[in-house]
Amino acid sequence: MGFERYAMTEKKDIKSLTLCQLEKEMGKLGEKPFRARQMYDWMHRKLAASFDEMTNLSSGLREKCKENYRYISLEAVKVQESKKDGTRKFLFRLYDGNLVESVWMKYRHGNSVCISSQVGCRMGCRFCASTLDGLERNLSASEMLEQVYAVIRLTGERVSNVVVMGTGEPLDNYDNLLCFLKLLTDENGLHISQRNITVSTCGIVPGMRRLAEERLQITLALSLHAATDEKRRKLMPVAERYSVEELMDACRYYFEQTGRRITFEYSLVAGVNDTGRDAEELSAVAGTMRCHINLIPVNPIKERNYVQSDKTAVLAFKNKLEKNKINVTIRREMGRDIDGACGQLRRRHMQKDPAQEEE
Ligand code: SAH
Repeated sequence: MGFERYAMTEKKDIKSLTLCQLEKEMGKLGEKPFRARQMYDWMHRKLAASFDEMTNLSSGLREKCKENYRYISLEAVKVQESKKDGTRKFLFRLYDGNLVESVWMKYRHGNSVCISSQVGCRMGCRFCASTLDGLERNLSASEMLEQVYAVIRLTGERVSNVVVMGTGEPLDNYDNLLCFLKLLTDENGLHISQRNITVSTCGIVPGMRRLAEERLQITLALSLHAATDEKRRKLMPVAERYSVEELMDACRYYFEQTGRRITFEYSLVAGVNDTGRDAEELSAVAGTMRCHINLIPVNPIKERNYVQSDKTAVLAFKNKLEKNKINVTIRREMGRDIDGACGQLRRRHMQKDPAQEEE
């Protein structure tokens, strides 16, 4: 894939390095270790957009850095703000011309950023706009971090929560995801609490187990959307590879290893997965573990003819789960008026201006 080729022949990505790795790099340049600390502070605390902002480093060192490293910094090509709830959606251009979306949401308990983990996606979920053109490439740790950093720079506000729920399948980009989580939660950087981070997966079982073994305190969200294999396979091709039973085993394992209860995401599609029987099947599966269910009325995309369940059906579904003693909430739909659903903004932008795709 293009990116790997690029990464091998091009400069090292300085913002994806841990402090320890950065100290070694500075050593190679003949610099003292404290320079690495200063630089790390500029990148991950002061959120500098370029080497030139690092005013307490000599211009000689800044030049050496420019020669030797790539400095990832995202440029917003479009910002949309919801008139309803203040949610802002950002379309960022990456160094190679690719585009990613991030969403900033204001909640009473703090501000949250939803980031993308890949350019495009290869999981093929039928209701999702992000996957329609397949996977273009993985995002580096720095490109995931920079979505958070750029949003902070552009809004001028603090961020306390990060959700990896934008375009892409994070467990299909495992190593970069882990590096990103490490840097995002580092006490020398933004120091976001692990408990305030959610990683959402379509259900790649080996990745879920591997993540459990990292024993992080982050929340794992599983996009379930159907409680039987037969129904799930109709909505999500990944269900051909892993059964609901295997998924539930992996969820229990995650809980055993981390003590963190799992979130199940369930997008309600009218007439497809929103009947009383679906609610009973979901209760049976969810009742076997500590979990929380997030119901999301599906966000219709024009390429598919899925329709949102109406309010009565959503409430009936919720009531049935509650009767069965399952923890459940209905996700507030935010930013619906600004192409809130995964991948819609990027797609619309690319369709308007096909030249973007060729860069
Ligand atoms: N690949 C990961 C994370 C990205 S998708 C995952 O599958 O979890 C984030 C969430 O949005 C998932 O639960 C996904 O199923 C859901 N989603 C995607 N398109 C949607 C749509 N049109 N309406 C409602 N939810 C959608």
